[in-house]
Amino acid sequence: MVVRSNNIRALPSLLLVPIIVVLLVSLAPCSTSASNSNPSAHKTFIHCLVNHSDSSHPISSAIFTPKNALFTSVLDSYVRNLRFNTSTTRKPYLIITALHVSHVQAAVVCGQKHNLQMKNRSGGHDYEGVSYVAEVPFFILDMFNLRSIEVDIESETAWVQAGAQLGEVYYNIAKKSKGHGFPAGVCPTVGVGGHISGGDYGNMMRKYGLSVDNVLDAQIVDVQGILY
Ligand SMILES: Cc1cc2nc3c(=O)[nH]c(=O)nc-3n(C[C@H](O)[C@H](O)[C@H](O)COP(=O)(O)OP(=O)(O)OC[C@H]3O[C@@H](n4cnc5c(N)ncnc54)[C@H](O)[C@@H]3O)c2cc1C
Repeated sequence: MVVRSNNIRALPSLLLVPIIVVLLVSLAPCSTSASNSNPSAHKTFIHCLVNHSDSSHPISSAIFTPKNALFTSVLDSYVRNLRFNTSTTRKPYLIITALHVSHVQAAVVCGQKHNLQMKNRSGGHDYEGVSYVAEVPFFILDMFNLRSIEVDIESETAWVQAGAQLGEVYYNIAKKSKGHGFPAGVCPTVGVGGHISGGDYGNMMRKYGLSVDNVLDAQIVDVQGILY
């Protein structure tokens, strides 16, 4: 559902409003039983993910364990700070490249059940690598596949998924209108998920405020794995 705001419509320049899938999670404590190299622990965790996600969108094709040949390239694709990509950096237990919202829900539920810390990554631009580095056994919930952008010029709104990058948002708006924009950051590869959940400023800030000031609605998965 997209909610329209009178404030937005009253602005002399036209704005589009991105809506994001934001995930709110509590960080599960370190597991004493989980181990990066324990294959049976992997199996039970994956079993949990399969059981808690929508079977019409199989989560198995979204899961990358360290044994998968693509594991390293998936992990590295959104490591934007190479200081946190050394041979001694702790690697995730596995990576879930969510393809459907039920994968996000399953990750939240199963991460807690299995005492694994969940790291949610959208664009990977966190300065401290918070979205892909941890001191304890962890897995990454990667959002890069969930990056659709639906711009509706008539209502001056847009639905944007968390894995989209700012440059993609600007480009998709510009494809539909030369008179619309969205106030957000200057780096085109910053992810919408981490950017908007942090407030965020850019070149249009003095006139239109922060990105988050222009968000009208959001789909949220809460700590219980419930979608709102
Ligand atoms: C080169 C560069 C340029 C930048 N320019 C600007 C700028 O112009 N203006 C500005 O305001 N900021 C700027 N930033 C800061 C940037 O907005 C933040 O670091 C932002 O959090 C990055 O979001 P991300 O999704 O790319 O990063 P990520 O590393 O994926 O995520 C950052 C944080 O948000 C959390 N997160 C990610 N996705 C979600 C989600 N879907 N739901 C809930 N939490 C989530 C992560 O767990 C992590 O804690 C810049 C950063 C860099 C590295």
